[in-house]
Amino acid sequence: MSDTIFSKIIRREIPADIVYEDNDVLAFRDLNPQAPVHVLFIPRQPMPTLNDATAADAELLGKLLLAAAAYAKQEGFAEQGYRTVVNCNEDGGQTVFHLHVHLLAGRRLHWPPG
Ligand code: AMP
Repeated sequence: MSDTIFSKIIRREIPADIVYEDNDVLAFRDLNPQAPVHVLFIPRQPMPTLNDATAADAELLGKLLLAAAAYAKQEGFAEQGYRTVVNCNEDGGQTVFHLHVHLLAGRRLHWPPG
């Protein structure tokens, strides 16, 4: 199983600005934010990419999105809006191979993305 910088954050071996955690999910601020709010939601159990998910991971994938939506509501920008993104592999722009959901908010986001 892959060991990435995100696994080190889970193990508290490197610092991160953690904003949410439960038994399955950890969320922390992105080091290089692309919007006023940029938080990453990751599963504690590492999975390199979305391609590696199986039907057995359906609940966990749902938990990541629900945690992002709950955070948006808690922080008060849910109604204004936000974006969740999962980059996969090279063309998707993935750089850290521990599956994560980006939550971006706080400015008008463009579509299509670059
Ligand atoms: P992706 O390109 O979809 O794989 O996203 C990886 C994200 O992780 C990027 O937005 C990086 O800025 C972010 N990142 C990398 N290292 C760290 C770190 N140590 N703490 C917080 N975010 C990080």
